[in-house]
Amino acid sequence: MVLTQADRPQSPQAAPDPYAAARQQIADGARFSRASDEVVELLSRPARVYEVAIPVRRDDGSLTVFTGYRAQHSDALGPAKGGIRFHPDVNADEVKALAMWMTIKCALVDLPYGGGKGGVICDPGSLSQGELERLARGYVRALAEQLGPDRDIPAPDVGTSSQVMGWMVDEYARVAGHFEPAVFTGKPLELGGIPGRAEATGLGIFYAGREALQELGRKVDGTTVAVQGFGKVGSYAARFFHQAGARVVGVSDVYGALHNPEGIDIEQLWVHVAQTGSVTGFPGAQELPRDDLLLLPVDVLVPAALEGQIHAGNAGSIQARLIVEGANGPTTVEADEVLAARGITVVPDILANAGGVIVSYFEWAMNRSRVAWAADEVQQRLETKMKAVYAEVSARAREIKQPLRRAAYGVAIDRLADAMRARGWVK
Ligand code: NAD
Repeated sequence: MVLTQADRPQSPQAAPDPYAAARQQIADGARFSRASDEVVELLSRPARVYEVAIPVRRDDGSLTVFTGYRAQHSDALGPAKGGIRFHPDVNADEVKALAMWMTIKCALVDLPYGGGKGGVICDPGSLSQGELERLARGYVRALAEQLGPDRDIPAPDVGTSSQVMGWMVDEYARVAGHFEPAVFTGKPLELGGIPGRAEATGLGIFYAGREALQELGRKVDGTTVAVQGFGKVGSYAARFFHQAGARVVGVSDVYGALHNPEGIDIEQLWVHVAQTGSVTGFPGAQELPRDDLLLLPVDVLVPAALEGQIHAGNAGSIQARLIVEGANGPTTVEADEVLAARGITVVPDILANAGGVIVSYFEWAMNRSRVAWAADEVQQRLETKMKAVYAEVSARAREIKQPLRRAAYGVAIDRLADAMRARGWVK
């Protein structure tokens, strides 16, 4: 049986408002930075947002016109950078929020990029491969003028893959009249992709989690972990924790959750998901109501699905000691306060999941220099970068006596403020 979005259980909580959350986080973080009100004003809205209509001929001969978006939030530090999401709940405010978080993330990890994000309102699981390809190509045709290796560089996000990037980079070559691999990252290796990009976000989450555990006086070996979402990010995060000796006792995807207090065999689960398309039905664990995954008694919780999953309604019941945010914006502003008051450490998204954009930067730099990078070099440079950024944020948190999220925003906004001042945009 092939499951589609229609099979997903519905969450009872109200729809999250990521744009309001992102704006609030920037205003809050700026209090712990050198930014003036002018900087905060500039960061509070995207520089540009495009909405496009994408006509796609369906396999049955009918026409569907999809709505696509691309937001470019800030180019203070360089061209926009950020993924493209294919999901039924995509909307302009979500794309704007995700672009804002990319600006802050790229500044935090000191990359020469601004923030961007794109999306198409669609259920990719209900499209044939041919329809998906026509949609991907249509997205690029509609937005080609706004993209480019020095303008805006997309990558995969929820519902898109390296194959989608392959179609997109090919379509861009047709429109531009020449092959330009550096305009997309997360590409197939054959088209200028970099070894290690597929696992980069999950590996970065593991490194960030390991650093945070160490600060808490814990080792990865023997800790218990629950991972929400078993896609490109969650499946690798679970694998790296598992390989390092942690017990991954819970995982979930949009269709349901699994629990095994003895630990789930993550390699076997990878095989099961490749065969069935879902974690559900895996024989090595008990099934759990999907959203109960977040409430399991574990040391580490990795939300790696969508925004707004940890909210005022469940933050008080979370039992994890440490939350490492794999997804973008998984914790609402209200939930953040509850977690801080309960002494639960949160490694924020802009730090924890930055491995993806860091390795995307390596890919872009590799494409531009035409010099190939080896997998071990990618991994080693990613580890060095994640450790350095974690240390910088942790030091700032101790200095200002505030949670890691505020410290991370403070560091990032300082960098953005300095660049805006140097450009003459602000006082
Ligand atoms: P994906 O489409 O590959 O996977 C998403 C996973 O989440 C799927 O397993 C899906 O079934 C599951 N899911 C969706 N709703 C759920 C719910 N309510 N409960 C449990 N599981 C649910 O997407 P991805 O690329 O893994 O992205 C996941 C998150 O990580 C997003 O917030 C994305 O923006 C963020 N992120 C991705 C990257 C990247 O490199 N792909 C980098 C940084 C951040």
